[in-house]
Amino acid sequence: MHERVELLKLRGEAVIDFSIAISHFPAPAPVRAAVRAALDEPLLPYTAVGGLPALRDMLAAKLRRENHIDAQAHHVIVTNGAKQALYQSLYVMTDPGDTVIVLRPHWPAYVATAQLLGLHIVLADQPDVVDAAFLDALPVAKVLMLNNPHNPTGKVYTPAELGAIRAWLRARGSACIVDESYEKLVFDGEHHSLAACPDWETLGITTIFSASQSYAMMGWRAGFACAPAVWIKAMEALQGPITAAVPALTQAAAAAAFAIGAVPELLADYRARRDLVVGLFAPVPWIAMAAPASGPYLWGDVSALTVDTVAFAETLIDDYRVAIMPGEALGCPGFIRIGYIADDEATLRRGVAAIIALGDRWA
Ligand code: PLP
Repeated sequence: MHERVELLKLRGEAVIDFSIAISHFPAPAPVRAAVRAALDEPLLPYTAVGGLPALRDMLAAKLRRENHIDAQAHHVIVTNGAKQALYQSLYVMTDPGDTVIVLRPHWPAYVATAQLLGLHIVLADQPDVVDAAFLDALPVAKVLMLNNPHNPTGKVYTPAELGAIRAWLRARGSACIVDESYEKLVFDGEHHSLAACPDWETLGITTIFSASQSYAMMGWRAGFACAPAVWIKAMEALQGPITAAVPALTQAAAAAAFAIGAVPELLADYRARRDLVVGLFAPVPWIAMAAPASGPYLWGDVSALTVDTVAFAETLIDDYRVAIMPGEALGCPGFIRIGYIADDEATLRRGVAAIIALGDRWA
């Protein structure tokens, strides 16, 4: 959908793009300053594949301080965004044919990556509360894939849920990849890391982080993974021949970004937009949409409409030049996802008005 938007824009058409979440904020000032300073340094042609030693040290310190994960530099690999961390961790943790459990709705990259690696994907519906009963009903799997805070629902896992997942991992012997890329975009509640436990390495928990959303740095491609040391070594062996290290300038940017913590003005701005859009949809009878506790997306249940959500999204872009993500792309037909952080208020209002006008046709 986003590519379609880009094509329409190339043809000179005005499109409102809610299909992904592109922040209207620039990267934080300390990030831009760090990159400007790095430009004047005699940069090495290549850095160590897993990242500059000082950056890995700094990220390990961040993990200990903020996430309460007992990590050292050898537990960290710096990657080109969360996507490379995801591919590499799933690659080293599985063999083709292994089962991976993905909870839906899900970020499309989880399924696409598992498909690339020839894995057997089991989709399970994410419950409102993850507890022992839910976990015990899951099939035997090599890896459980989690996303906390969650795209697109905004769910933030509670300490009790994380405790239940750790207990299940101990009993089952499955490993886990948890994508915590939205850790700094929490509006309500508090983010806790799954790997904040003394036995995270023996439980086989890999945690993925990204600067893309937390610091409005989508195009910078800055992310990292924290994993048991043996998997980090294997990921380095994989990353070396594919991309070598992340660009040195991006590493300078990552060092500045991950030192910041949350960005208050970004959070306040997103929260105001979230409340605006949820308020605009509130009187509409055919959509159910809760204010998400985190993240740059709104997730609406439009199963009351007499149209499938792919057709809804197609008609919306054809007739109104507004792009959304149909739930089918995230494993959940009957839902739509709206990225609400790109536009000014007037544009947000126009886009929402178009969605409501189209939905009224099929209500
Ligand atoms: N993880 C999830 C669940 C996301 O939705 C996104 C961005 O949309 C990311 C991670 C960021 O990925 P990357 O760091 O590759 O830009």
